[in-house]
Amino acid sequence: MSETFDVTVVGSGPNGLAAAVTSARAGLRVRLLEAAATIGGGVRTAELTLPGFRHDVCSAVHPAALASPFFREFGLPDRVNWVIPDVSYAHPLDGGRAALAWRDLDRTADQLGRDGGAWKRMFEPLLRRLDGVVDFTGSQLLRWPDDPIAAFQYGARSLGLGSRLLWNTRLKTEEARALFSGVAAHAAGQTPSLSSSGAGLLLATHAHAGGWGFPIGGSQAIADVLLQDFLTHGGVVETGQTIRTLRELPASKVTLLDTSVKLLLTGNLPAGYARALRRYRYGSGVAKVDFALAGPVPWANPDVAHAPTVHLGGTRDEIAAAENLVHRGGVPERPYVLVTQPSVLDPTRAPKGRHVLWAYTHVPAGSSLDATELITAQVERYAPGFRDLVLATASSSARQQAAYNRSNVGGDIYGGAVSLWQLVKRPVVSTKPWRTPLKGIYLCSAATPPGPAVHGMNGWFAARLALKEHFGIEV
Ligand SMILES: Cc1cc2nc3c(=O)[nH]c(=O)nc-3n(C[C@H](O)[C@H](O)[C@H](O)COP(=O)(O)OP(=O)(O)OC[C@H]3O[C@@H](n4cnc5c(N)ncnc54)[C@H](O)[C@@H]3O)c2cc1C
Repeated sequence: MSETFDVTVVGSGPNGLAAAVTSARAGLRVRLLEAAATIGGGVRTAELTLPGFRHDVCSAVHPAALASPFFREFGLPDRVNWVIPDVSYAHPLDGGRAALAWRDLDRTADQLGRDGGAWKRMFEPLLRRLDGVVDFTGSQLLRWPDDPIAAFQYGARSLGLGSRLLWNTRLKTEEARALFSGVAAHAAGQTPSLSSSGAGLLLATHAHAGGWGFPIGGSQAIADVLLQDFLTHGGVVETGQTIRTLRELPASKVTLLDTSVKLLLTGNLPAGYARALRRYRYGSGVAKVDFALAGPVPWANPDVAHAPTVHLGGTRDEIAAAENLVHRGGVPERPYVLVTQPSVLDPTRAPKGRHVLWAYTHVPAGSSLDATELITAQVERYAPGFRDLVLATASSSARQQAAYNRSNVGGDIYGGAVSLWQLVKRPVVSTKPWRTPLKGIYLCSAATPPGPAVHGMNGWFAARLALKEHFGIEV
């Protein structure tokens, strides 16, 4: 690593790739270093079980990708072939019942009976001001939003759904409550809470706007197209390069870290900044299981078969109890499980007639639990006969998630707990949280605003700031 580059990017997740592409397109000489043997971080697809069965190793559905200003500018919607399902997500309940979030808001409301009006009133104003909602949630919170009305409408609804005092007032039926809890539980936080309701509200708004799309062939397609662009603009990639301390960084005018804050803590930091970083908290872990199946999942409610994303865990109260138990360090018998079944709409993912199923559940940080049986039992609860279809499984405990990617500390797949405070302080309270006190070093991972998910915004913001401050380049 003797050659000197203008910019070094450490880590090739969607944020590292966004930072690398942005810098290379600005005409700078950029080197991208990645610990793993392949690039992509949270956007990788591989044959984890059997030949011909292509599983998403990490992210599987991308509600935030199509609305991401970075991806829009990059042209991702046109450069990758997307599946945009009619049903964004489904939530089966006992007794063969199910609630479905159709992309069509009216259709969703029609099926929610006496909660239909409330569901519509919740989302219609947010959909009308979608750009304002994306602006407010898609950057750091410490700034005046472009559309204060959208920010207010989003904030007020998050508060209404995220407070135990108010959460019975808006939605009355078991179906509608479950439909919202399933999406809010993505945040892996205490339930109810402002951060989980805010995350749920945003994801559900995307569900009724651009939809919960995913690339044909798997999430790897996103990494591939970003990598191709980076190479076309003269970028250099070196895999198998783990940076363990900042002293190992090659000389470079600017370094962008798509890593955990733990790497920053190896640097010679001012005491106050180091103290703030040490107070940064990680969330629960994730235990994931991938299944190769002999056929489609036999859901008791046939409508669920059309939904690439399915939330399991029962009623709102059951999900809240399970999530809060994990938060306290326990493992629920009937956990919340996030499932995707992309092969129902993307035949490239499995041999003819066969299917893949991707599933994870929240577990205490650092847990070595193999969740295969726990998850199989929850799927079987809503799809009797599922067990008989399983040809092979691949399990990854929270501990293994952490070993797979140094950014997933303790198996936390979000780069840090998604609490309200940590959405303001990510990783420190600052109007420019991507900048660190170390000259030329910027953090660009999910540990910065706007937080986790595949949208590349953290990398884009960090690179634009660095390019302006060090090279006088405005992009
Ligand atoms: C199991 C799982 C399921 C998920 N599901 C979804 C989903 O469906 N939809 C969604 O939007 N999001 C999902 N996510 C979250 C999403 O993947 C992340 O929020 C996103 O990938 C974060 O991007 P990033 O670039 O910040 O970091 P990452 O994607 O985590 O990439 C970081 C990269 O940096 C490398 N790296 C880290 N430290 C070093 C170092 N010191 N030296 C060298 N290289 C280093 C890592 O090897 C990794 O390749 C999921 C994540 C996981 C793990």
